Amino acid sequence: MTTLTITRIAHSSVLIDFAGYRVLTDPWFSEKFGYYHGEPYGITLENLPHLAGVVVSHGHYDHYDMQAFQAYPDKQVPMAVKRGIAQTARKVGFSNVTEMDAWETTHFGPITVTAAPGKHGVPEITYMLQANGFTVYFGGDTLLIPELNEIPQRFPEIDVALLALNGLQIRPLGNLKQVMDAQDAAELCRIIQHL
Ligand SMILES: [Zn+2]
Repeated sequence: MTTLTITRIAHSSVLIDFAGYRVLTDPWFSEKFGYYHGEPYGITLENLPHLAGVVVSHGHYDHYDMQAFQAYPDKQVPMAVKRGIAQTARKVGFSNVTEMDAWETTHFGPITVTAAPGKHGVPEITYMLQANGFTVYFGGDTLLIPELNEIPQRFPEIDVALLALNGLQIRPLGNLKQVMDAQDAAELCRIIQHL
């Protein structure tokens, strides 16, 4: 029997294990002023297993912390990142970085990685990860946007959706919502399950 194991590391950083082929999402393994995990790491950077690949939804420090992640020893690990931000990973030595836009596909060994739309304070993508008959949706920090309505046509069977729902708002900008709240996330679940 094939298995799917998902381990929360911290914030949007999650390890998705497709029976030995593992994808790390949005690596964030350090803290600085104003940015605290508020939880212990599910897995520390030193204890990460060998990765089949890394996906990055957008360029914010708490999702794409290459200063810390440069300690990861395999510099050829495939990385998929939002178009326009590969340089940050290349600068610290990662050599196999692919920039993606929505609906583009790449592969981490047996894992099919398809970018999906996303919207946040900066350009963002989300990801559909597929292997061994499992489909996992990684929602990064996206807001609930109309472009996500296209997901169920392209991916009718999603087994797990990982969605941010802290409802972050930036108050000086007139309460502009930056991340979905729980109600938005429930609505997105309804959309992608075409209920
Ligand atoms: Zn962000």
